[in-house]
Amino acid sequence: MPNTNIPKFKCQQCGKCCSRIRGRLAEEEKKFIEEFAYGKLPLVQLLPVEKMSFPLFDFEAKRFRKWQKEVNIDAKITPSRVLFDLNTNKSIVFTYYMDYDSCPFLKDNKCLIYNKKRAFVCRVFPFNKGPFLKTEEEFKKLPNESEEGLEKSETFLKEDMFGKCPAITEIIPKLDDKNRKKIVSQLNESFGDSFLNIIEYDYLTEWINKLITKLIKEKRVRPAMNYPYKFLIKRIANSEKIDITDFLIKEKIKTKEEIENLIKEFDNNIDAKEKIKEFLG
Ligand code: SF4
Ligand code: SF4
Repeated sequence: MPNTNIPKFKCQQCGKCCSRIRGRLAEEEKKFIEEFAYGKLPLVQLLPVEKMSFPLFDFEAKRFRKWQKEVNIDAKITPSRVLFDLNTNKSIVFTYYMDYDSCPFLKDNKCLIYNKKRAFVCRVFPFNKGPFLKTEEEFKKLPNESEEGLEKSETFLKEDMFGKCPAITEIIPKLDDKNRKKIVSQLNESFGDSFLNIIEYDYLTEWINKLITKLIKEKRVRPAMNYPYKFLIKRIANSEKIDITDFLIKEKIKTKEEIENLIKEFDNNIDAKEKIKEFLG
């Protein structure tokens, strides 16, 4: 049943979200990266936090490389996070970034590839994160909600879900953050695809985390960890690079068809649609 009190989100095409793609990270995320992503965890960050711009997953980077030629730009698509595998001495690339402050695909406040299936980070605007702590966990605690039935007690603030966007000022006060069923259906009604995209984005990052754990457990990779960062970064620079999806196919962990189907599922927000079913209706 639609909520009549919620305005539909309408992007004003101000270009703000695309014109500042570098360093747009929450403080807690920055702290986590600084502490763990420079050699302590299997995934190694190749650039300083302040240089980071939004991530392109390996299959997205492949598309962006093609599109940059079509619109005649050099998007400077560069690896940002890799796992250095001591079994093969290869750097397995999980994400890339575009080495710009403002997205190179933005011209006169318009996206040159707007009609393509752009990256997740393009399609989640104006969301920064979804309403689920993790896709398989409970919703964060809503203000004034009892602990009963909730595994997590972290407070949910509706404002935390969004980046700076002038088109959401009328919507946020109307979101009912005391009723989880209602807020999910409000978000779905107001934001449509962007809302599904941010939930699917969580699924994708969770899939990557689980994949890394599984590959290590099954000894399919042996990540370099707790190496001095400077030394590790040199080894990575001199190593052969392979995208994670290509690695999975090459090592016969997944077939080409399985990878294509998986990407289709992510592209079509299949998990997100399933996830919100229980909150709608
Ligand atoms: S900041 Fe908001 S209104 Fe402006 S382009 Fe991005 S999503 Fe649209
Ligand atoms: S590709 Fe387009 S939508 Fe994505 S950040 Fe760049 S200009 Fe914005």
